[in-house]
Amino acid sequence: MIKDKISPDKSLVKSKGGYNEESFKEKIEQQKNAYNRILQFKNNILFKKLDKNEMQIIDIYLNSYKKKIANKPFDKEDFFLSGQDVLKISKVSDENLAKFLIYRYKYSLNPILYKIDKYPPNIQIEPTSICNFRCVMCYQADKSFSGKSHGHMGHMDFELYKKIIDEIEGNIEAVTLASRGEPTLNPKIIEMVQYSKNKFLGFKINTNASMLNENLINNLLDVNFAEIVFSVDATDKDTYEKIRINGKYEKIISNLELFSKIKKNNFPNSNTITKISGVKIKEAQNVEEMKKKVGKYVDVVQLVDYTPWESSYNNPVGYTNEPCHQLWHRMFVWQDGKVNPCDYDYKSELSKWNVKNNSISEIWNSKEYNKYRSMHLDNMRKSLYPCDRCTFGNA
Ligand code: SF4
Repeated sequence: MIKDKISPDKSLVKSKGGYNEESFKEKIEQQKNAYNRILQFKNNILFKKLDKNEMQIIDIYLNSYKKKIANKPFDKEDFFLSGQDVLKISKVSDENLAKFLIYRYKYSLNPILYKIDKYPPNIQIEPTSICNFRCVMCYQADKSFSGKSHGHMGHMDFELYKKIIDEIEGNIEAVTLASRGEPTLNPKIIEMVQYSKNKFLGFKINTNASMLNENLINNLLDVNFAEIVFSVDATDKDTYEKIRINGKYEKIISNLELFSKIKKNNFPNSNTITKISGVKIKEAQNVEEMKKKVGKYVDVVQLVDYTPWESSYNNPVGYTNEPCHQLWHRMFVWQDGKVNPCDYDYKSELSKWNVKNNSISEIWNSKEYNKYRSMHLDNMRKSLYPCDRCTFGNA
C-alpha cells in the first residue's frame, strides 16, 4: 500500500538551521550560576595553566555577561552561554570547564568570524549511510542516492572509525555520530560508541529510535554521551507516519519509554542530555503540544529549521549569496572515508578528500577547502555546485 505523505512547506526554509522552537527555556538563575562559575574559575589553578588565547576567551565570556547585565550592545566577538548551552554547562565538571567554554566559543564564533584552527570545531562521522526510513524532507527519499546500485550506501568499517577517533581525540570536542544514515544500523555501533567513551565533551548521537533495545540503550547510556537526540517530528500517529515514512509511531514511543526507564533506573546520575528533535516542515507542528505528550521521556523537545535536503540539487539557484557557515563550522566524514563540507551536498559533488589518504587536519586546512572558503567570501559561491542553489548562509 502506498502511504500518504506530507509535503514540506518551502516557505519555512531559513538560511541557517537553528532551533525554531524549543521547550527548554533557561532561567535567569541558571545564567547567573554559569556566570559565577566562570568568575570563580579565574581563581582556580586550572585557569593559570591556560595559554594566552584561552585566557582571553574566558575573559570574553565574563565581559559579555557584564554587558548583558548592563544592557549594553554586543560586539561581533562577544559571547556568553544561552539556551541549551546553559543546560549543558550545568553537566560539566570543574575540571572540564575551561575546555567546555573554549570549545563552545569556537563552535559558535569561528564560523561567524570566518576563522579556522588546526581542526574543525565540529565533526560529523557517519557510521552508515543506510537508513530504514524515507522521511519526506530527507535525501534518503532521493532514489539516486539511496538506491543500492548508485554506490552511496554502506557501513563504516570499525578500523576506519578507530583511525578517525584516534586523530581527533583531544583536538575536537563536538563529535556527532550521524549524517546521511541511521547510525544504529551499523552492526558495530556498540563497539564504536564504547571505543569513544569519555573522549569528547560534546559527543552526540542522532537516532530515529527505531532500533533501540535494552542492550543498545544500556550501552548508549554507559558511554556518557553529552547528548542523545531522537528524531521525532510529531506526536500524533498520522502526522508522524506521513513524515517519517516506514516509522511506526507506537514502536517509537514504546522505545522512548524504555529508554527513559533504563536511564532512570540504571543511570540515575547520568549527565547525558536527551532530546526529541524534529524538523519543522509544517506550521502546524507545535513544540508545546509535543512536550505535553512526550516531554516526560526527555530533557528537551525541539523543532529545528527545515532545510530542503530532499531537493538539494533541484532547488532554485540564488537563494542566498552569503558565505556558508558550514565551511568554517564542521566537516562530514562519510562511511567510506570520503570527506564533504556539508550534508546538503549528500552526493559529495564538493568532495576532494578521503581520510584514508589524508589526516582530518590536513583536509580541513587544505588548498581545496580554503579555495571553497575564498570563493564564498569573494561572492563567488554561485560558481560552485550545489552551493549556488543551497539555502545555508551565515545569518
Ligand atoms: S552546498 Fe555549499 S553552501 Fe550549501 S551547505 Fe554545502 S558548502 Fe554550504
